Amino acid sequence: MGVLSKILGAILSGVGGIILFFGFNADPGISYIWLFIGILVMSMGFSLLTGGRKKPEIEPLPPTITEIHCTDPECDFKELRDFEKDDYILKPLDAKCPKCGGKMVIEGVYIVREEDENEEIKI
Ligand SMILES: [Zn+2]
Repeated sequence: MGVLSKILGAILSGVGGIILFFGFNADPGISYIWLFIGILVMSMGFSLLTGGRKKPEIEPLPPTITEIHCTDPECDFKELRDFEKDDYILKPLDAKCPKCGGKMVIEGVYIVREEDENEEIKI
């Protein structure tokens, strides 16, 4: 779809340019119609071209970690593990706390940056 919309965008931009060229050389009475259509078609083409560039088809998933906390306020156990597909913040987990046997919950999901800084993302 990305490649197709770029080809279509290039064709529309070209066609729009031709229509604009006709508009400049057309009879003054109807030239504004050609100019209008030309600009419209060109802008459609350019939006297709630039729109495809903004969204790459496959975005590589950044390294992400999940922070798990024990829900017992007197137990401060926490653990970091690799992010799994259905992880979200405040998701209760089946796994029990290895320290007190209490319930575990996901407290945060972080993208690991190259500089080893953690950034919290909202899921
Ligand atoms: Zn615990």
